[in-house]
Amino acid sequence: MSDSLKAGQTIGIIGGGQLGRMLAMAAARLGYRTLILEPQSDCPAAQVADGQIVAAYDDAAALAELAARCAVVTYEFENVPVAAAHMLAERVPVLPPPRALEVSQDRLVEKTFLNGAGAHTAPFRAVGSEPELLAALDAFGGEGVLKTRRLGYDGKGQHVFRKDASSDQAAVFAAMGGVPLILEGFVAFEHEISIIAARGADGALAAYDPAQNVHRNGILHTSTLPAAITPETADAAKRSAFAILEALDYVGVIGVEFFVLPDTSLLVNEIAPRVHNSGHWTEAACLISQFEQHIRAVAGLPLEGGRRHSNCVMENLIGDDVLRAEALLAEPNVLLHLYGKSEARPGRKMGHFTRLTGPAS
Ligand code: AMP
Repeated sequence: MSDSLKAGQTIGIIGGGQLGRMLAMAAARLGYRTLILEPQSDCPAAQVADGQIVAAYDDAAALAELAARCAVVTYEFENVPVAAAHMLAERVPVLPPPRALEVSQDRLVEKTFLNGAGAHTAPFRAVGSEPELLAALDAFGGEGVLKTRRLGYDGKGQHVFRKDASSDQAAVFAAMGGVPLILEGFVAFEHEISIIAARGADGALAAYDPAQNVHRNGILHTSTLPAAITPETADAAKRSAFAILEALDYVGVIGVEFFVLPDTSLLVNEIAPRVHNSGHWTEAACLISQFEQHIRAVAGLPLEGGRRHSNCVMENLIGDDVLRAEALLAEPNVLLHLYGKSEARPGRKMGHFTRLTGPAS
């Protein structure tokens, strides 16, 4: 492709965490330089990138510098200020498009968009007052998951109402209120899966096989390949992800999380307009990882089909789990990835490993 990035050109990455780190590593292998915008100095991404602008994500001078020094700008988290993305987009291509940020930053906007794109979700209602909460709970059979509309991640800012467990709705609303909320119907899912899909600058689509995910304390614990789903369910997840990519005129990698219901139908839980924790297994079990796929997309290079050569289990190393690192290195068929974070705080993602469990099936 004639208008693809040339070796030596610089890709800007907003956000300096482990996802930015792995994107920078993938970019380097394709001959690109990377420049990280992140307020925290010596962040995981900057340790492996060509440079860092140490500034807030919405710092106008920093954004101007990023635009001036980069051929394209991407991001590693969905809470990049939308105004900053628009400011950048006037000077340099920003991929995935800022619209993907707008959609994924607010659960109400996201669910409305998803259903419009034909990707069904749990029923939902905006909740701005205690009476609205009571009415929504009533409509959903007395149970549901109350979430903050914005800035929720890894199960933070959520409360589950179950029919058989008494909760003090007024106290829950008071504890979470003050910010816009959404009540989702409670989904009695069989399992959770996610799919990592991509759309290229030329509109080409690609997807990896869906992973089966297990969460602990709201944080991803393991992703297993293959997922215990039928080929028809896998196809439905892929079609849904492709519909979302098309509707957003997207370029890059997206993560789409689904609930699989007992009747094998799917509901989308949420989308992440970026590389995703449940796709880390691709670096060990595929020739081309989600990180390289994303770099290929934003650099205008051809996508790879997402072929998987092995079955595997990816497990996150949270907090003190990182002490297992040396023992894991002594095992066969294990690929370990540490993020360069010096302090192992509880709940902090320190690294992950992928254990290959046999040829792809
Ligand atoms: P989220 O932050 O929205 O990804 O939610 C974190 C986890 O909470 C999900 O991975 C599910 O395990 C659970 N969860 C979220 N929403 C629902 C729901 N509507 N019904 C049942 N479980 C849910």
